[in-house]
Amino acid sequence: MKDYYQTLGVEKNATEEDLKKAYRKLALKYHPDRNPGDKASEEKFKEINEAYAGLSDPEKRRSYDTYGTTEGTGAGFDFGAGFGGFSTNFGDIFGDVFGDIFGEFTGRRRTRPTKGQDLRYDLEITLQEAVFGTDKEIKIPRWDNCPECDGTGSQPGKGPVACPTCKGAGQTRIQQGFFTISKTCGKCGGHGKIITDPCTKCKGQGKVRKERSISLKIPAGVDTGIRLKVTGEGEAGHYGGPHGDLYVVLNVLPHPFFKRKGNDLLCEVPISFVQAVLGGELEVPTIDGSSTLKIPAGTPSGRVFHLKGKGAPKLGGYGKGDQYITVFIDVPKKLSQRQKELLMEFARLGGEETSKNFMDKVKDFFNNKEQAQ
Ligand SMILES: [Zn+2]
Ligand SMILES: [Zn+2]
Repeated sequence: MKDYYQTLGVEKNATEEDLKKAYRKLALKYHPDRNPGDKASEEKFKEINEAYAGLSDPEKRRSYDTYGTTEGTGAGFDFGAGFGGFSTNFGDIFGDVFGDIFGEFTGRRRTRPTKGQDLRYDLEITLQEAVFGTDKEIKIPRWDNCPECDGTGSQPGKGPVACPTCKGAGQTRIQQGFFTISKTCGKCGGHGKIITDPCTKCKGQGKVRKERSISLKIPAGVDTGIRLKVTGEGEAGHYGGPHGDLYVVLNVLPHPFFKRKGNDLLCEVPISFVQAVLGGELEVPTIDGSSTLKIPAGTPSGRVFHLKGKGAPKLGGYGKGDQYITVFIDVPKKLSQRQKELLMEFARLGGEETSKNFMDKVKDFFNNKEQAQ
């Protein structure tokens, strides 16, 4: 194992600030961007990073100080594993330390291939479509690479030329003491290239507005708020980067008969007074047709019946929700003379004189209450 202090060229009692300073200095010197193709520099750069990773973390540093420089003596060393792929996630780990410097320093950041923007599309579907799934064709307006100039923005055969101000670097540099301060080139906006003969179709933008048809497969069981991701159907990327993604956000329209609660479907069905009293069979609608419901004699208004498996399927899983049917008694408003007579007869047979009976009961209830107090 290497001596981290030696690698960074600092004393054992170096402060965090000392470490940071030493690290910056060495990292700038051996950074691969400054030494393209130089294997030795690359090795050295890795060593510096490993050393700094070990010492900048107080806990790791303590452990390192305790167990010395020999590999295998101490617990808590896993730098090898942790930093094997170091150069790829360089920015993630050290971004806080000097991402600010390297962002300027490398000068490539602005023209690096970047992924295009993600797009959002709101799609309304019916409850049936949500429950059973469906195929949809949607049209997405987005920016696409201009087919005329292939996204370069220049007329065919008259490609962009290197910017004369920055000589194609996209950055202008000023040496200031040890550091090189870089600025985005004002002439080319950091692209390093300028267009002398703009494409007539896209006016030099390299992109054109285009409507694209996209076939969507909406799975069974979706609900409002579900996002479907369509990879690569967002805006075009920049500098050869990939397209962004498209997110289709679903909104399920209200249904005239069914209400949805999770995977269950709720509905209300009227029954007649006679059906409620005598019971019978009732044809009720379901999301996929209809079903026969047995109403037992003496069913009160508001009773809930349950049809198993007649709800929406569980998205991405197995099983289905249920259907819940609340029955309510549809009280007839218009009666013939004969119907009225029969109902009066019905009431009499039940020992029910008039509706006053109920009021008497209410009065009794209050009287009893007063007596109790
Ligand atoms: Zn064009
Ligand atoms: Zn320039």
